[in-house]
Amino acid sequence: MKAFIPFDLLFLLCLATSALGIENKKRSLRWITKDAALSYLTRDMSNLEEFKALLRPLVVERVSGTAGNKAVQEHIKSYLSNWHVETDTFNDTTPYGVKEFTNIIATFDPSKSTKIVLACHFDSKYFPRGKFVAASDSAVPCGVLLETARQLQCLLEKGPKEKSSASDLTLQLLFLDGEEAFKDWTATDSIYGSRHLAKRWAAEPDPANSSLTRIKSIREFILLDLIGTSDTTIPQHFTSTSELYENLVKAENYLRSKGYLTGKHLGPVFNGQKSWGGIEDDHMPFLNQGVDVVHLISSPFPSVWHQLTDDWDHLDFNLIDDFSRIFRLFISNLLHLQPESRGCRKK
Ligand SMILES: [Zn+2]
Repeated sequence: MKAFIPFDLLFLLCLATSALGIENKKRSLRWITKDAALSYLTRDMSNLEEFKALLRPLVVERVSGTAGNKAVQEHIKSYLSNWHVETDTFNDTTPYGVKEFTNIIATFDPSKSTKIVLACHFDSKYFPRGKFVAASDSAVPCGVLLETARQLQCLLEKGPKEKSSASDLTLQLLFLDGEEAFKDWTATDSIYGSRHLAKRWAAEPDPANSSLTRIKSIREFILLDLIGTSDTTIPQHFTSTSELYENLVKAENYLRSKGYLTGKHLGPVFNGQKSWGGIEDDHMPFLNQGVDVVHLISSPFPSVWHQLTDDWDHLDFNLIDDFSRIFRLFISNLLHLQPESRGCRKK
C-alpha cells in the first residue's frame, strides 16, 4: 500500500465536504454486554498456540505467481472447508512479464444476498535481495480472518435471533493476491487482485439475488492490513463508516475496562483519531464502485514496513490477541450473533 498526504487544495476541499456531506448508512449494531458472552468471545476463544500454528505457514515468501504463493493458497483453502469457496484466477502484465494471480473468496452462506466483506492480501512483496516474509503485511491480517472464521463458526451456524434485522447478512472473506507492486507503486503495478475482482463483480449478478450485482451485494468492505507489531495503531479513515469504527473503539475500551483483554499490551489498538492522509490499498477499486469501506490499517505504518525485519520475531502476540478479541466482539455485534446463548459454549 502507499500513503499520500493531500497537498492538493481541491482534494482537501473534497475531503472537507465528504466529511460533512456523507450520511451514515443506518446500521443496527447489537451491543453485547453479558459477562458470560464477553468471556466466551475473548478469553475462552483465545488460543495463541492454535493461532501460531495456523499463522506459521503464512509467514513465508509468497510473491504472486510463485510456488510459495500457491502453497499459501492451499493453506487458506484448507481452513475454510465449511465455507463456500471460489477462486478467481487470471493473468496480468507486471514489470517482470505476465504473472498468474488468484483471489480466494469464501462465503459463509451464499444464499444470503447482503455481504459483510472482510479482506486481506496474502501475497508478499517481491524483494530482489533478501528473504521478505511480510509478517504484518499481511500474514497476520489473513491469519486473524482465518481464526475469526473458525472461532465464530458455531455462532454463525446458529445465526441471529429470528426476525433480527441481521438475518439477511452473511460474512464473505476475500484473500486478495497481488496487492504489492513488483517495482514502484503505480496504477498498473499494484492491487492486481482487487482491481480484477471489483471490475468483474461490477458486472456479475449476485448468486443469491440476480437483480443485484456482486458489488451491490456488499454492505461494507472491511480491509485489514499492517497489523501485528507492537506499534500497530489504527485511526478512522472513512467518515461514511464512522459508526463501525467507533464500535471498535468502544469495544476495545469496554473489554479493557472489564479485564477481557490480555493486559499485556497497553494499547490502544484503535486510537479514536481521524486520519488526514490517504492510503492507496485494496479497498480503492471497491470504494470507486461506491462500496462503503472500513480500513483497519496501522497509520503511521509500522516501523518494520517493507523491511526484512517484518518477520515472526517482530510480532507482538499480545497485541494480535487483543486485536482478535476486539474483532470477534465487533463481528458478533455487527451480525447480531448470540454468544450469550449456551448453544456453542462448552463451559
Ligand atoms: Zn506491503
